Amino acid sequence: MTDYSNDIILTGDRPTGPLHLGHFAGSLANRLALQGQCRRQFVLIADLQALTDNAGDAGRVAQNVLEVALDYLAVGLDPTLSPFVLQSGVPELSDLTMLYLNVVTVARLERNPTVKAEIQQRGFARDIPAGFLCYPVSQAADITAFKATLVPVGDDQLSMVEQTNEIAFRINRLAGRDVLPEAKALLSTMPRLPGIDGKAKASKSLGNAINLSASSEEIARAVQMMFTDPGHLRVSDPGRAEGHAVFAYLDAFDPDRAAVEELRSHYRRGGLGDGALKSRLNDILQALLEPVRRRRKQFARDPAYVMRLIGEGTATAREVAARTLAEVRGVFGLAKIEPLPVDRKRLSATW
Ligand code: ATP
Ligand code: MG
Repeated sequence: MTDYSNDIILTGDRPTGPLHLGHFAGSLANRLALQGQCRRQFVLIADLQALTDNAGDAGRVAQNVLEVALDYLAVGLDPTLSPFVLQSGVPELSDLTMLYLNVVTVARLERNPTVKAEIQQRGFARDIPAGFLCYPVSQAADITAFKATLVPVGDDQLSMVEQTNEIAFRINRLAGRDVLPEAKALLSTMPRLPGIDGKAKASKSLGNAINLSASSEEIARAVQMMFTDPGHLRVSDPGRAEGHAVFAYLDAFDPDRAAVEELRSHYRRGGLGDGALKSRLNDILQALLEPVRRRRKQFARDPAYVMRLIGEGTATAREVAARTLAEVRGVFGLAKIEPLPVDRKRLSATW
């Protein structure tokens, strides 16, 4: 087993909606596995990043901060081991973003494949919010502020980690020494869970995901609706397992790998109906999400407590980020000023 005891982990989620099974498969499961095994793990609720394509609906972002934290607690993230950090509560991250923007070109920002795809998906055409185009730089600030060496993410985030390392390289070159470490993406065995509609990625913004907080009925309904093989008309027909959402979810969540392989061959040969597969998946998802839903309900009774946890995590994070910011400011040679107490009497003469 790999030794992660020296690693600092940074991961996070945009508070654009409740978390779903894609988050669980792509990132949360790894965070849970590494919690307590690594040196430290910060979990960022990226509200500033969420604003970059939700500025007109800021209430949605604010509301979902609590929802995301509840999802974290519900799956078992422990804020004493993995502090929950509110991005906008750490202004040092914005300062770092501003500094990093000086070592990134617009052409490089426009080349980021994930951002490119998201611009299309959101129909921005030529009206791309500048903040949106620059969000990989803010993500570089998030990762480097904590000097993270490991980033458990889905595969849509590989290009962000790559861009982060380019920025770190430039800062280190300016400094003439290694100020910022290299960050490695940690992919799960299911780095991109498809949507229930068979689309390549289950996503909050596409509304094609099963939320971690879904009711038992919602789970059953979603499984029933899942995309299968449209050419598989009769049970006896040979079926295609590729692109079959139920198989993708079984691959992600069924612990009995051998049984899933057997089902896959059977499906390909013919003689296995989608109903049987869906029924198996439904049982697995119900068992996985029932305790999550139960714990979430318990924590949801005391939202003030959950917000206090975020407050504590954010304060811890600020201490670390402030140290990195001081170093990076030094790299750019910014003048240092001592924060002196304000002399009200002297100011009032001129103000
Ligand atoms: P949005 O649509 O608002 O961007 P999202 O569903 O893409 O939301 P994010 O908050 O952007 O979720 O992603 C948080 C983390 O979860 C990232 O590491 C991302 O790679 C991972 N993730 C999100 N969706 C999936 C998925 N379908 N499969 C695997 N990982 C995913
Ligand atoms: Mg996303």
